[in-house]
Amino acid sequence: MKKTGIIAAAVVIVLAAGALGWLYFAGWLDRDKPAIRLDSDITAIGKKKDISIAFSDERSGLSGLKVEIVQDNKPRLLAQESFPSRSTRQKVLRLTVEPLLLQLNNGPAVVRITAGDASLFKNETVISEQVRIDMMPPQVYVMSPVNYINQGGAGFIPYRTSKPAALTGVFVDDRFYPGYNIVIGGQPTSVATFAVGTGASASTKIVIFARDSAGNEARTSMPFTIKPKKFRADKVNLSETFLQKIMPEFQGSIPQLQGKTPVEVFGYVNTTLREENSKTIQSVCRKSVNKKLWEGAFHRMRNASPMALFGDERTYLVDGKPFGNSVHLGVDLASTAHAPIEAANNGIVVFAGALGIYGNAVIIDHGLGLFSLYGHLSSIETAVGKPVKKEEKIGLSGLSGLAGGDHLHFSILVGGQFVNPQEWWDPHWIEDNVMKKMNL
Ligand SMILES: [Zn+2]
Repeated sequence: MKKTGIIAAAVVIVLAAGALGWLYFAGWLDRDKPAIRLDSDITAIGKKKDISIAFSDERSGLSGLKVEIVQDNKPRLLAQESFPSRSTRQKVLRLTVEPLLLQLNNGPAVVRITAGDASLFKNETVISEQVRIDMMPPQVYVMSPVNYINQGGAGFIPYRTSKPAALTGVFVDDRFYPGYNIVIGGQPTSVATFAVGTGASASTKIVIFARDSAGNEARTSMPFTIKPKKFRADKVNLSETFLQKIMPEFQGSIPQLQGKTPVEVFGYVNTTLREENSKTIQSVCRKSVNKKLWEGAFHRMRNASPMALFGDERTYLVDGKPFGNSVHLGVDLASTAHAPIEAANNGIVVFAGALGIYGNAVIIDHGLGLFSLYGHLSSIETAVGKPVKKEEKIGLSGLSGLAGGDHLHFSILVGGQFVNPQEWWDPHWIEDNVMKKMNL
């Protein structure tokens, strides 16, 4: 009988070991706690907050989860789930917190997240996040009650917000111009420079926007008066000579223009390429130094006569018939051939190279969203990232790009939109419309 006893004991041991092995591999003996990863920043919660939380337990699987928000020792349940099947290894939970519906007040609260696993040990993870309920929209104080803005010109507005804004700026109709945070009179102040179109009127909407870190938004309309400006319109005859001279340069650099007639090339250059260049310029001017680098009136090219002005509407003619049009978004200045081109003001070079219709071009960031552009250069004598001083030489004039003769195309941009450069050459305009508003 002794032998059978040994066999029985051996069978018991093998079965026990097998059971233990199974328990182990099936995760029943898992000692690791479930993992919780909060994928949203919930430091501040406004009227409505979307939260995403990832739960996981690779060994034994999740058994359940619970999310609560606690204020004044009173928990409010945000989500609760249980997973009886033991097969849920991962779970991503998305929920929306609406403090008013949960009867929460402005002030501190705690988000408590609990997860349990399906191990015999019932491992549990609890994390507590300190949050701030804040349903108060920021208030916007406009610092300049009177604002005259020329059609096609720039507007400038300083304002303060009742609390720090995560995002702020000015909307002109649907276009957003970021505000920059500077100090005026010892106090944090936002300033925004924006463009109004040549067709702007009293019905143009100019609104100061601020959003706090909790997501609360404020929209305050800005007091302003639009001053009408006259713009010119002219007809430009596209002569065979002009087209023969200019179009091969574009044909050489854009493969899809091979085999096209000069007029077809012009059609492409004046529409598709012009639009592409405008997008490049907007993306170059998206980010600006958070500091006013420029000082005083902008420098205008020496001994140069203006050829085309800002806002000139051009209708192109081929054989006397209209063939496309454009609006000139800068001032053309002509002096002698290969005349020195100088920086209009202090800044940092943010673009230097080929720019389609503008030929060889340079763009300078003057800070707080203000930029200048120099086009049709024959040579560039500066580089991206280089700080430049007012009147520092950056290249030579020429006729690269869409230019009939040697001249400088000069543009001023705010927030990536073209404005009339005349204003920035005029010390009185700068004094009245920018400097006085900065010296509150
Ligand atoms: Zn031009």
